[in-house]
Amino acid sequence: MEIVIDDVIKTAQDKRLASIAEKVALGERLSEEDALHLFRSNELAAIGQLAEYVNRKKNGMNAYFIINRQINPTNVCVYQCDFCAFGVKRSDPSAYEMSLDEVLKKVEETYLAGGKEIHMVGGIPAHWGYEKYVELVREIKKRFPEVVVKAWTAIEIHHMAKISKKSYEEVLSELKEAGLDALPGGGAEIFSERARKIIAPNKANAQEYLEVHRTAHRLRIPTNATMLYGHVETLEERVEHLSELRKIQDETGGFQVFIPLAYWPEGTRLGGRRTSSVDDLKTIAISRLFLDNFQHIKAYWVTLGEKVAQIALNFGADDLDGTIEEERIVHSAGTKSAYGHSAQRLVSLIKKAGKVPVERDTFYRVVKVYD
Ligand code: SF4
Repeated sequence: MEIVIDDVIKTAQDKRLASIAEKVALGERLSEEDALHLFRSNELAAIGQLAEYVNRKKNGMNAYFIINRQINPTNVCVYQCDFCAFGVKRSDPSAYEMSLDEVLKKVEETYLAGGKEIHMVGGIPAHWGYEKYVELVREIKKRFPEVVVKAWTAIEIHHMAKISKKSYEEVLSELKEAGLDALPGGGAEIFSERARKIIAPNKANAQEYLEVHRTAHRLRIPTNATMLYGHVETLEERVEHLSELRKIQDETGGFQVFIPLAYWPEGTRLGGRRTSSVDDLKTIAISRLFLDNFQHIKAYWVTLGEKVAQIALNFGADDLDGTIEEERIVHSAGTKSAYGHSAQRLVSLIKKAGKVPVERDTFYRVVKVYD
């Protein structure tokens, strides 16, 4: 697909869209009003073309994936967010907690299969002490020093600081010392206080989430950023969320990738409806256009499903995430995606989307190009 930005400028019926296209062509930053206009626009194809134009300037024809494994050591969680179908009380019949040996066995399987990364996040049990989180990281790193440990969301870091009475800096420094390499982006949900009070009133707020990431960046721990959309938030609140992330990225440059996460309502107390694929693609494309200081935008195949994720690779996204092996969090909320994919499957999905599959490590260093 050749991207001819002039066509969008010349053919747009909507004058504001034409002026946004001109800004994109000139490499100018979009305003919050521009992003809101795009969210309200029905010109999905034009928005996708603009986003893909920007993506190709940043990432060429590359579409990234990683051989990784997600480990969710427990689903017991004290916070009981209404949008979450994963976190349960300890007394719930579906509650589980993995032993250290079980976690290490999973890491070993991944390592032997050529895995490059462990993505470890989970519920937050009231009975876990601070040392438990540090020990899991330390033991994984001790046994498998080559494996990158990307673990614990900002919500978990905030919780550790609370129960240990340490600062974010102390907690993150101790985790880094134990072997933590990077932080995932989960827990951002939506930054709006109004919406957060409805969907997740008990856990760390937006300022706390952002401060954990800012601190991590200062300590040279790279992190990812997310936004959960499609529940009770307004379009204005989506734009505010993106804007907060863009500001922090201007300050620190420590975010590696932005991951828009579609809300899945099944089994949640909040309920609601699944987002449409039009909304999914538009959100990915606008994220690409607005977050000019992010190098990568991820189309997370678990929440989007394979087909939309593939289309998203031509709507501004340049990354599908990874093989994952056994995702449990979004599956609790009803996604019908596979629990994991083989590397060959991801390579094939990317090739069929017309892109060049590039296996990467956590830090987006190229491991292998499947040309
Ligand atoms: S979203 Fe996270 S903090 Fe909230 S209930 Fe689920 S696992 Fe717990």
